[in-house]
Amino acid sequence: MLTIGSHLSINKGFEHIGMEAISIDANTFQFFPRSPRGGKAKELDMDDINALKELMNNNSMNIILAHAPYIINLASKSEKTRANAYEIFEDDLRRLDVLPNNMYNFHPGSHVGQGVEKGIELIADSLNSLIRSDMKTTILLETMAGKGTEIGRTFEELRSIIDKVEDNDKLGVCLDTCHVYDAGYDIKNNLYEVIDEFDDVIGLNRLKAIHLNDSKNGLNSHKDRHECIGEGELGLDAIVDIINHPDLKDLPFFLETPNDVEGYKKEIAILRNYYEY
Ligand code: FE
Ligand code: FE
Ligand code: ZN
Repeated sequence: MLTIGSHLSINKGFEHIGMEAISIDANTFQFFPRSPRGGKAKELDMDDINALKELMNNNSMNIILAHAPYIINLASKSEKTRANAYEIFEDDLRRLDVLPNNMYNFHPGSHVGQGVEKGIELIADSLNSLIRSDMKTTILLETMAGKGTEIGRTFEELRSIIDKVEDNDKLGVCLDTCHVYDAGYDIKNNLYEVIDEFDDVIGLNRLKAIHLNDSKNGLNSHKDRHECIGEGELGLDAIVDIINHPDLKDLPFFLETPNDVEGYKKEIAILRNYYEY
């Protein structure tokens, strides 16, 4: 069974988002635990969370994915920006502790001219204090397109962050298909080689989720503009190969394509139809 869902809005609560996911034939979903631009998170409503738990149990929904706000930058030059990112991260992790089986995906950060090495060090420093041994959530580093001074455009950069984190059992990677293609990994023509390279550099045991997006731009463009499935530079065939790759087929896939809920429903139907297992 293909595990697939899309990004959905949490504005109407956890039970609502779970029902919305089921209504589009998704068996997982991604959400922002707070506004993507940061800001204060809503009080947790335990009744609502328990309703989601029950919904997930009854619909064999085994995992959900939270996405950290875009604005947080653990690699910033400004101590204030880093402290703010840390605070949001810590608060999100604390809240995710009470949610059913979940992972927390974040953009590693931008070094803003300090250099990749320095940026990696700052990110690892924060993770070393953020990760608690009793935490349930798995933290995912997202592969990035390499826009501006983004860290995480190569597998080596992600590996280097993981290596610098002592308690790294709860650390994984989310591979974004638009981002890696933009970053220069040719998953359209050489998917098997790219996945082997991921395995060599990071290890496939770290790969916990896929952001399944087509890209508006070509290989190596470093743009990060998502496109609907089959309408971008990757194309439907490449995306079908990705969901059917023997090392990827059992991972949860999350659509972040420019769609409304109805559009996600259509893409999920198409992909379920092309899934070979
Ligand atoms: Fe992202
Ligand atoms: Fe993504
Ligand atoms: Zn993106």
